[in-house]
Amino acid sequence: MKQGMFLGFKRKILALLAAAALLLAACGAAAGPREPASLDRLAASIREQKTRMLGYPVNHDIQLRDFYRWYIDNGVCSVMVNNAGDPFHSEEDYLNTLDFEREVIEFFGPLYGFDKDNLWGIVTFSGTDGNDHGIYFGSKYLEKKTKQKPIVYVSDAAHYSNMRLADLQNLELRLIPADVHGRMIPEELEKALVPDRPALMVYAMGTTFKGGVDDQEGLNAVLAKHPSIVVYRHVDAALFGGYLPYTKFRDAVNRKVQPFDSIAVSGHKFFGMDEPAGFFLTTSEVMDNQNPYQVTYLNGSMPMINCSRSAVAPLKLWWLIQHVGEKGFTEQAEQILENAVWLKEKLDAKGWPAWLEQPLSNTVYFKRPSSEVVTKYALAPDHDDRLGGDLSHIVVMQHITKETLQGFLNDLPAKK
Ligand SMILES: *Cc1c(COP(=O)(O)O)cnc(C)c1O
Repeated sequence: MKQGMFLGFKRKILALLAAAALLLAACGAAAGPREPASLDRLAASIREQKTRMLGYPVNHDIQLRDFYRWYIDNGVCSVMVNNAGDPFHSEEDYLNTLDFEREVIEFFGPLYGFDKDNLWGIVTFSGTDGNDHGIYFGSKYLEKKTKQKPIVYVSDAAHYSNMRLADLQNLELRLIPADVHGRMIPEELEKALVPDRPALMVYAMGTTFKGGVDDQEGLNAVLAKHPSIVVYRHVDAALFGGYLPYTKFRDAVNRKVQPFDSIAVSGHKFFGMDEPAGFFLTTSEVMDNQNPYQVTYLNGSMPMINCSRSAVAPLKLWWLIQHVGEKGFTEQAEQILENAVWLKEKLDAKGWPAWLEQPLSNTVYFKRPSSEVVTKYALAPDHDDRLGGDLSHIVVMQHITKETLQGFLNDLPAKK
């Protein structure tokens, strides 16, 4: 009896050990067992990493501390507030921040050349969400006008979300080759154009890796040779669209100068949101040619893709507009462009191959350094044989000071 119990115990131990071994193998035994998550460790790690994050287009200089104080002290943090509705047409008046959202859109609209009486928009969840609306609104608009599905034209250097979204929305996509600067090649667009189908152009105002800016004038000249093609232009300006209106290059994103129908801009890249967010702007004319989806229980039409949307993100953007304001954004825009030029000049002086798409870009790309340097500064990789192979880039955002950049430069090997 006793021996049987002992055997059973031994078998259980063996089974447990085997299970543990399997679990370890499944988790990647080489890495060893993970320590339990700790909030304090996470916070320390986030604070430490912030100072050397050079490779991604995000502003880590967030100025929302007082917003959170207001949010907590006033009990707003204990209520589920939800912007399920259209900020421009909602009659719904329960627990939302739609009025603030509309003010945010009406603040941004004129910066991109939209007149207040010909403007519609929303605060989005991200740049991708803004492009989703641009491609969706563009294709519905063109379908309404032409009774045909459009073809989406985007350069192969543009952000991948545009290709993903064309796929998601089941639209035919023509990927147009980009030149060595990351700009869509007008001659290649000309070759790819399908004359008897509407064209949904997605212009990249700042490609992800090189910060290339599509030459809208040159591309529009190609389109103008085919007056029978009905065209919708969406601008993907997730990063550059944030700061360009605050520089002397503001015309590059002004639809009165470069005509476009909609634009997507990110909130967490330039503007200093602490969570993914953005905004999408278009004209009333585009808005009036959508699938409205009248929803009785929401008291109105639901033109946007999502039902529930953040009520807090519009408040934060509204707060940033009030507290950072035009003066703050202008200073920040000047600072990042100046620091980008400074970095490019220092790399040149060091003889380290580097490029900057001046004057609109804050993204310096260069010959990829050692893997230690890449890891230390979280540098994103790319490859271009036309420029000698492996590349990395630094997106000069607000938290990146000249001191930080100098530290990076010191980590590169000395000039031979
Ligand atoms: C970052 C970026 C996006 C994607 O934005 P998310 O907010 O990450 O979804 C799209 N296009 C461009 C040009 C970008 O820089």
